[in-house]
Amino acid sequence: MANEKVIGIDLGTTNSCVAIVEDGTPAVIPNRGGYKTTPSMVAIAENGKRLVGHIAKRQAITNAENTVYASKRLIGRKWGSAAVRNSLEIMPYRIVEGPHDDVRIMLRDQVFSVPEISAYILQEMKLISEEYLGEEVGKAVVTVPAYFNDGQRQATKDAGRIAGLDVIRIINEPTAAALAYGFGRNIDRKVAVYDLGGGTFDISILEIGNGVFEVISTAGDTFLGGEDFDRRIIDWLVFGFEKQHGIDLRKDKMALQRLKDVAEKAKCELSTVRETEINLPFIISTGRNDALHLQTTLTRDKLEELTSDLIDRTIEICARTLEEAEIKKSQIEDVILVGGVTRMPRVQQMVAEFFGLEPCKGVHPDEVVALGAAIQGAALTDDKSEILLLDVTPHSLGIMIVGGYFHKLIEQNTTVPTSESHVFTTVRDNQTSVKILVLQGESDRAEENELLGEFVLTGLRRAPRGEVEVEVTFHISADGIVSVKARDLETGLEQSITVTATSGLTEDELKKMIDANKDYMVEVRSSQEMDKAKHAAEKALEEIEQLFPAVTDIIAGSDFGQDAVKKARGVVERVRAAIAAKDLGTLTEATESLHRTLNMFRGVVSKTRG
Ligand code: AMP
Repeated sequence: MANEKVIGIDLGTTNSCVAIVEDGTPAVIPNRGGYKTTPSMVAIAENGKRLVGHIAKRQAITNAENTVYASKRLIGRKWGSAAVRNSLEIMPYRIVEGPHDDVRIMLRDQVFSVPEISAYILQEMKLISEEYLGEEVGKAVVTVPAYFNDGQRQATKDAGRIAGLDVIRIINEPTAAALAYGFGRNIDRKVAVYDLGGGTFDISILEIGNGVFEVISTAGDTFLGGEDFDRRIIDWLVFGFEKQHGIDLRKDKMALQRLKDVAEKAKCELSTVRETEINLPFIISTGRNDALHLQTTLTRDKLEELTSDLIDRTIEICARTLEEAEIKKSQIEDVILVGGVTRMPRVQQMVAEFFGLEPCKGVHPDEVVALGAAIQGAALTDDKSEILLLDVTPHSLGIMIVGGYFHKLIEQNTTVPTSESHVFTTVRDNQTSVKILVLQGESDRAEENELLGEFVLTGLRRAPRGEVEVEVTFHISADGIVSVKARDLETGLEQSITVTATSGLTEDELKKMIDANKDYMVEVRSSQEMDKAKHAAEKALEEIEQLFPAVTDIIAGSDFGQDAVKKARGVVERVRAAIAAKDLGTLTEATESLHRTLNMFRGVVSKTRG
């Protein structure tokens, strides 16, 4: 539908950001506190209340076990994956196995799927934009790292559904950044987007010209980001403390959360200063009123030494990507930096050295992705838009064939949307069904790639082997999401196949989560309304209490006056009772009467004073 507002959301590992295009200009929407980014954190407080964003971050130290951060590292992951194993070791919150080989998070005594956690963050971004725009927002473009596979994309889309958002397109973060960089500028050039965020690293090479943004190549590491830099600092602190006191701080969840906070802070500070003090008083108790403190200095040089191999890894990936795309470094005319970690001087220096040019300074690394998502959102809903985004699939797609090998049907870096067909024949006489494993990845061995799902084609005609032919079509949408269709070439009959539960949630589960979240939001909205009404009533109560003595003096001489004061007291009592009973209907009605009385009181006082 034309002109319907579409927000662009950068759902980050550490922070999220929301933007919109208004009157042709993209802009970031600040949250209630005036900040342009919101921590991607969700917590459940002791009273069961859900906390999202800054308020979740503020209580993270004292409620570490029930505060989720970096959930993006877990979204769409299989329980047995390396990412999950790694998170199990380092996250202070409880990660448990889900029913479909997926991951769930336990906060207090409630179990949440990862898409639910991400949904709460998306919902917060939706609320921020609704407050700003003064109207409901239903559509969004959400960004994901270019290297996300099908399961991670599906799960992000599911998160949008749970949040009550129609995610009209998933786009890749580096592509969004390039879109924001090239928007409104008449340029024709090849650019590189180097994106080092909280949890992931992506590099994309794009060709921009005449409003067309074409991704030529993309690569990355979903396991490499600012959190790894933090961990290097934590390890260094823990090691130093253990050497000094013989105590392993990792065993204490609260200490670990404090270390994490202080490590991130030090890392960020060292982007502008050369050394910083790290000070954690009472980091651990040694029993009997005795506590130890952690105090040390971290220099920028030390940080660079601790993290140099991480930065080197990103540069190696850049080199490989250029090589695969057969592009020379000299052909790249601009490098766009995205993600908070690119503020590190050492990162900037390494990138500049590698590409032989200074990275472009005009774009804000924290906001550029959300701005690009908003631009794409506006373009998708505007028939006259001249922007065309041509993205690629970061992974090859294929099937398992005899011997456990991987047969690629769609090659990595193919422009999406795309489709490819493959004709299967039966391998046994009288075979009536065939099982197909759909995989994503680059290894020749099927088992080393990501299994997206499997399906069985049934109802095949009994015939000698090799006679029955079934054409299977694999499709990758513009969102990068995979679907599969099969057709019996003999009968023309189509079998519709869904690759099952790639996001880790079944449709039934998803529907339940959508409903539960809707109910929760109804409760939240009504409690917000109650708070607002209570606030307004209390303001009026305060004013009327101040006027009572003067008014009583002035009008209490007459019976009518006494009666009016008595009635006013009655109204005040009714308002107070409605606040105590949390009865919104009565409160609204009683506050109206309170305002009428207040007006009358104001009139009496001003007439006498005048
Ligand atoms: P993003 O995912 O783009 O929000 O990036 C977040 C990551 O950037 C986190 O690991 C932050 O600690 C990191 N970061 C933010 N600001 C800075 C800074 N000034 N210097 C170094 N890292 C930063």
